Amino acid sequence: MSGLLPVEEAQARLFALHEPLASETIYYSQAVGRYISQDVIALRDQPAAPLSAMDGYAVRFADLPGPWAISGESAAGSVPAVPLGKGEAMRIFTGAMLPEGGDTVIMQEDVAADGAQLRLNTGDTIESGQHIRARASDFAAGETLVAAGARLTPGAIAAAIMSGTPQLSVGTRPRVAILTTGDELVQPGHALAPGQIPDSNGAMLAAMLAGEPADLGLPLHLRDDRTLLSRILKDLARRHDVIVTVGGASVGDHDHVRDALQDAGGRIDFWKIAMKPGKPLIAGTVGDAVLLGLPGNPSSAFVTATLFLLPLVRHLAGARAPLPPVRQAMLAAPLGSGGTRRDYLRARLDGGTINVFDGQDSGRTVPLADANALLIREIGAPPRAAGEQVDYIAIA
Ligand code: AMP
Ligand code: MG
Repeated sequence: MSGLLPVEEAQARLFALHEPLASETIYYSQAVGRYISQDVIALRDQPAAPLSAMDGYAVRFADLPGPWAISGESAAGSVPAVPLGKGEAMRIFTGAMLPEGGDTVIMQEDVAADGAQLRLNTGDTIESGQHIRARASDFAAGETLVAAGARLTPGAIAAAIMSGTPQLSVGTRPRVAILTTGDELVQPGHALAPGQIPDSNGAMLAAMLAGEPADLGLPLHLRDDRTLLSRILKDLARRHDVIVTVGGASVGDHDHVRDALQDAGGRIDFWKIAMKPGKPLIAGTVGDAVLLGLPGNPSSAFVTATLFLLPLVRHLAGARAPLPPVRQAMLAAPLGSGGTRRDYLRARLDGGTINVFDGQDSGRTVPLADANALLIREIGAPPRAAGEQVDYIAIA
């Protein structure tokens, strides 16, 4: 267990601790943010027949430039009662089926009706087939519209519904317990005695998980008590898929997470990552649950939650790509060289350029409030000049 684990290796080992949870069938109204279990394959053509894309008149292109005899109407939701005869124009509305024989739609602004007669009223050219949505022009039966493991966005939900799929099967949301530890911590908003600080990490982690498919229990707080911690871990493991502790992950006399995990019959898989902040991260299992022990410094907790906790939740919930995407931006100011661990520097991206904050002490919270990006600086990276491209992860 000596030596620091590279971030990617630690992420892979974390995911290997527990398979994705089983899938469940849910209502469309519950689907946003969930990960779909199977490919959504279109069961139908969309549109199923040629439709008008405008309010206007359906005509035969060969009859241009008119005039036409107005005959009947086609509205969305019904099948035109009669075919379109030679020299006829049928009133038609957006989303309505073309009558048989009709091959072109002229929008109503481009014609003038005079009783039962219709005349062209524009200098613009009318193209053959214009303003028609061809059959299957959106998608054809058999096409894959949403791939298994994709996150269901509002747009993906719309596509899944349009496909004709009767219901959605998604990964079950992992049940997550948040446990903050530390004798110095006081619940948010309560009066502080000397030596105490507010417990900000518990609510911060709950807020970070609010955007993920997690079934969150109430955040709990425990004093630095190894025996109590071990009893609680054992108990929480019966009802949760993930237990995330904050604080007590390091080497101090009051850091009990590793010992308590072992007392509870659990197993440590890895400890200490080659990253800054966040080095003392712990991962293991207790019962059927995955234990993730985040370091207590606010920036360390934030960065390790971004790189490990949220991806673990997505992995368990069936995500195909659980890791936050790495993007590129231009450095606004020169950046010094990298050290012996990979840095995740709190930064702000504005336009295409990224600014690294001055105070990177992992105990600070203010940079977290202003940051919208974590700039990634590799181990031993050379100094970089303003204007150079760097990697970053976007944060909410
Ligand atoms: P620890 O990992 O327990 O050694 O804590 C590292 C630092 O983070 C200490 O300064 C703690 O007071 C602080 N800390 C630990 N837990 C929290 C928390 N839940 N909210 C805010 N700060 C915390
Ligand atoms: Mg502590």
